[in-house]
Order: sequence, then structure tokens, then C-alpha cells
Amino acid sequence: MPDNIQQKIESLREELHQHNYSYYILDEPSVSDFEFDTKLKELQELEAAHPEFADPNSPTLRVGGGITKNFPTVQHQYRMYSLDNSYDFEDLEDWEKRIIKTIDEPVEFVAELKYDGASISILYEDGKLSQAVTRGDGFQGDEITNNVRTISDIPLKLKGDFPDRFFIRGEIYLTRKNFEKINKSREEEGLDLFMNPRNTASGSLKMQDSAEVRKRGLSAVLYQYISEEFPADTHWEILAKAKNWGFRVSEDQAKLCKTLDEVKEFITFWDTARHKLPFEIDGIVLKVNSLKQQRQLGFTAKSPRWAMAYKFKAEKVETQLVSVSYQVGRTGAITPVANLKPVLLAGTTVKRASLHNEDIIKKLDLHEHDFVYVEKGGEIIPKIVGVNTEKRTLLQTPIEYIKFCPECGTELVKIEDQAIHFCPNELHCPPQVVGRMIHYVSRKALNIENLGGETIEQLYREKLIENPADFYTLKKEQLLPLERMAEKSAQNILDGIEKSKEIAFEKVLYGIGIKHVGETVAKKLVKNFATIDELKNATLEELCQVEDIGMKIAVSILEFFSNSENILMIERLRSYGVKLEKGENTNEVLSNVLEGKTFLFTGKLSLFTREQAEEMVEKHNGKNISAVSKNLNYLVVGEKAGSKLKKAQDIGTITILDEQQFLDLIG
Ligand code: AMP
Ligand code: ZN
Repeated sequence: MPDNIQQKIESLREELHQHNYSYYILDEPSVSDFEFDTKLKELQELEAAHPEFADPNSPTLRVGGGITKNFPTVQHQYRMYSLDNSYDFEDLEDWEKRIIKTIDEPVEFVAELKYDGASISILYEDGKLSQAVTRGDGFQGDEITNNVRTISDIPLKLKGDFPDRFFIRGEIYLTRKNFEKINKSREEEGLDLFMNPRNTASGSLKMQDSAEVRKRGLSAVLYQYISEEFPADTHWEILAKAKNWGFRVSEDQAKLCKTLDEVKEFITFWDTARHKLPFEIDGIVLKVNSLKQQRQLGFTAKSPRWAMAYKFKAEKVETQLVSVSYQVGRTGAITPVANLKPVLLAGTTVKRASLHNEDIIKKLDLHEHDFVYVEKGGEIIPKIVGVNTEKRTLLQTPIEYIKFCPECGTELVKIEDQAIHFCPNELHCPPQVVGRMIHYVSRKALNIENLGGETIEQLYREKLIENPADFYTLKKEQLLPLERMAEKSAQNILDGIEKSKEIAFEKVLYGIGIKHVGETVAKKLVKNFATIDELKNATLEELCQVEDIGMKIAVSILEFFSNSENILMIERLRSYGVKLEKGENTNEVLSNVLEGKTFLFTGKLSLFTREQAEEMVEKHNGKNISAVSKNLNYLVVGEKAGSKLKKAQDIGTITILDEQQFLDLIG
């Protein structure tokens, strides 16, 4: 029987790997989404019931879920070099001359796109993804295997005739579309927007929760094979092979060039065509095709002599400043924006550019109606990089930064060590009022689904809500007249609001938006102050005694509770039944007996469920991890424990407990 189940699990895995490949790499789905999901679910259930057959490369792990607190540092077996840069064709001609000095036979080049993301080195052993490491400083990087497993473009298992052990390198990036999607949802949650796809991609790779990484929708492309031995004589052939093993490779948009002239054509083509790509590139990478020639050329202290990056010039145009307007963000931060005479730049018409803050305006010495240079760099929003002062007349006056909030007229404040101006009218400045309510309903706070930023703005404009307590008095008759509001969505909103009364106190505390009280601080506060009244009555001293609460946070809490409008809102929330005190079964820590210890449960448990077990570990300040490794302290085994038990025994340093022994341990 178990044999049968193991076979079933393995064949499902095999089948799902194949479908993933067809879908993500070939772009030709081989089954319907529904069929795929059904099979995936079947596999998930079997795996949950039979942990002894676990496999770190199962397609079910694509969805993520493992948490990594600290990413281990890993030495690169082969150093990850940088690339030399060139900026014009003359640089390239010089490079070719240097090559010809060493190599006296014809040289071919592979021209590839220079993907603008984060580089990664992935180790495959026996056709399975075994480790993924960031570039780091080139000598060592961070191991982010679990996060990389969630990226659909990266095969967990290879096909065909692959070498036993090799590294493959490539770039993890975000498409423009997914980048915009992320920013849109951040905007709705009232969070700061990300600057550009590149930083977002590398930041995403370092998130602790791999399920969150999955949601970012990262892409990957592989462009270099490294190992003791090579499966072909040229880079071009290896790319083709890697493609057959199941990788998405740079070859798809690359070209094998016999002469430097062909290289130049390729560059000229992509210099304009790049704007139509669904992702960003910042240049072209050229590589000598023959591996023998690559070895002859070798490396400088920093980079291979056989490769060269060609960087595109950031496109720059001149246009005229029409006016400067000021936006008030949901946190009260003021952003100056330049309105420009429309101009074509990098394939799109630009009408506005960010000016960031007053210091930047001063540095540019920007005057009314100046002619300015606009550039599109790595950022999505173009920026002003200079002024054509020759075109300035004596009549033009310098731009004067505003003193009062354009939304509510309150005098602005400039925080000393920041360059940014704020509107201090938190409770009545319209964008801030809306921002506060959006924050209240956001997922990590009261999690009121179906109530998006636009609806909140509408409700505010209709004067139906002004602070979070007002949500609880909304009636269906008030919602229905709103734009695009059907009976069903109105009911969903009301249901969501009703459900929020069950949300734990710590999330409510985070949701009411006390400045500097983020998720973690809210949790710490609730540990020390069980009710909102205790918190309200706490003195500065008492607040500062709480772990991680410093002066800045403590003062902000005191200020919050000294405002009568906030007190009124809290009293109203209380009267509607919102939780303002700690419940009995919150995740409080019962003891520290397991502090610093890691646990993993395997086999069929009979005294408690896996979830209960993991909860117990957390309540006694231990940590659950998801795989057997040297980092594991205790493996708790139930009936029919399989491969994990064996692996733990092989490692030798792991304490193996049965269920009763585990209970004894936590007393
Ligand atoms: P730089 O960071 O400017 O030194 O450029 C080197 C980086 O370019 C490498 O670390 C890779 O992350 C990246 N890169 C992007 N596309 C390619 C490609 N097709 N081949 C090699 N490196 C690439
Ligand atoms: Zn204001």
C-alpha cells in the first residue's frame, strides 16, 4: 500500500513538473488551469498525509510558505565576476583588438540582452534544484533556495540528458506589468511605492516568507553554465542544451554574431526595440562564443576578458517646465511634481517628472518656465537632470517651495534630518484621512475585504465616513447609490465590516494608525498592555520599559491618546464591538524552555495534530523549520517516519523524540 502511494505521489509530481514546463517555458499550456489545480490539490493532500515522502522540489512547494529568518551565507564555488562596461562602438572595437592580440583565429560573439534584475547562481544535482545563492560580493552570497523555488520560470527538476552537477547563472527580474501591479496594490494599502523593477526584484528575493515572494510574480532567465566540465564547445550550444533541460535561456532574444558589425546591428536594433519589451534591460552583453577562446582570454581582477557589457545611454530630451504642483501623500508627505510641455522620451510621451523634494529643486536652481533636461533612467518616472540656463531670461524667477498644504491649507513642517515636508494635519487633511481609513481596512490590519481605496475615497467625498469608526455605521442604502456598486458588492462590504469585529486586538492597534506603531510594535505592546485602556493610561516610563519601544514611539503613543478625537473614535469602536483587548487564545508565549531550538515533526502523529504541535513550539519560544539539516535540533517522529528520520540519523547531531518525549520537554 505505501509503495502505491509513493508511486502515486511521484507520478503526480512528474506530471505537474511537465505541465509547469509547458506553461511557463514553452508558453503552451498542456492542460486547463482547473485540471492543473485539481491535480495539485490531490498531491498536496497526499503529501500532507504522508510526510515521509516529502521532497523539497515538489511542485506543491512552488506556492511557498517556508519562512527564513536569516539567510545563510554561502561561498561561491566559482566566483561571480562583474562585467566590463562599454558605452560606444569605439569601446567595442578596442575590446575586439585586445582579443585579437591573444587569439589568432576567427572570433564569434554571442550577443544577449542585459537583463536588469538580480543575479543568481543555482546548483543542480542529479537534475534537481539543490541550492540558489545571490551574487553578494561575488565571492559569497546569501542562500535563498526556498524563495527561488517559488519562481515559475525556474525548473525544480530537469528533463533529458543533463550533467550530474552544475551551476547555472541568470537574472531574476520583474516585468513592468507585475511591477505596476505591486505598486497599485501597495498604493491601495497605503504603503510607500517601490522605485523601480530592479530594486523590487532583489528586495523580493530577500523576503522572509516565501509565500510572499511567490505573490510578487518574479521572472527568471538563465545565461551561463559553469561546472568542472562543459557539455559542448561553445556558449551558444550550451544555451541550446540548457533550453532542452527545461531552462528559460537568454538565447530566445540573443544572436550568434560572426563579426563585430553584426554585433553593432544587434545593439542598434535593441536600443530602440527595448522599449517594447515587457521587462527592462540596461544594455547588451557580448560573450566570446568559443569556450576554448574564453579560457585563453581568462579574467582580469574583476571581470572576464571574454565578455563585455554595452550600456545604453539613458535617453535625454529637452522640454519646458510649465508649472510645479505639489501632491500630498497618504502619510502627509509632500511631493513636488514638474508639469512639462509634452515630449517624446524612450517611446512614451512624458508630461510630468518627479522633483522629489525642496533640496533637489534648489540644487537644480529651477526657475519658472525653465528649459529642462529630462532623463529616463532605471526609475519608471522620468526625472529632471539639469537646466539649460542659456535659454533663461531675466524675467524668470526661482521656484518658491510652498509653505502651506495645497489640500487643507495647514502650514507645512520640515522634519529636521529629512529633506521632506509634511502636512501635520493628520486628522483632517483629505488625503491623510483617506490614507488612514485605507490603512485600517488593509490586509494586515482589520482585513476588510471588498473595500478598496476607490470606494473609500467615494464614501469620503460623499461625507459618509471620516474615520475608521464610521465604517460601522454604514448602511446598504448609503452604499447602493455609489458608482459601480451592485447589491451584492454592497452586501459583501457590510459583511466584511461585520467580520472585522473578530479581528485580534494587536491588529486593531496596528490598524488605528498610531504613528510609528507598525505590526511588530503593536504585537509587543499587546504583550505588555492587555487592553487599550491600560495602554492609554501608560506613562512614558512604562512605555519605554517595553522591549524595542524607544522614546520616539512612546511619545507618539502619548500624543495619540492625548487627542480627544482619537479617544472618541476608540470609544465608538468599542461600542460597535471591535476588539480592544487581548483574547484568551492569542499566540502568547507560555515559556522560554525551547528558546533558540528548532523543531520538525514527521510521520503520522497521534497525540496532537501537526498544527497543534507547531503552535506549541511557538508558544514555548521555539522555532519550526521545514527540512532536516544541520540547523535542526529536534526531530519529533510519529508512526511510519520515513526519509526525514533516516536523514536526521545520518547527520547525527539531531535529537530524535517521540510525541510523549516532546510533551515532557515542554512540561
Ligand atoms: P554590472 O552589474 O553592471 O557589473 O553587470 C554585470 C551583471 O549583469 C551581472 O552580474 C548580471 O547580473 C547582469 N546580466 C544581465 N544580463 C546578463 C547576461 N545576458 N549575461 C551576463 N550577465 C548579465
Ligand atoms: Zn494638509
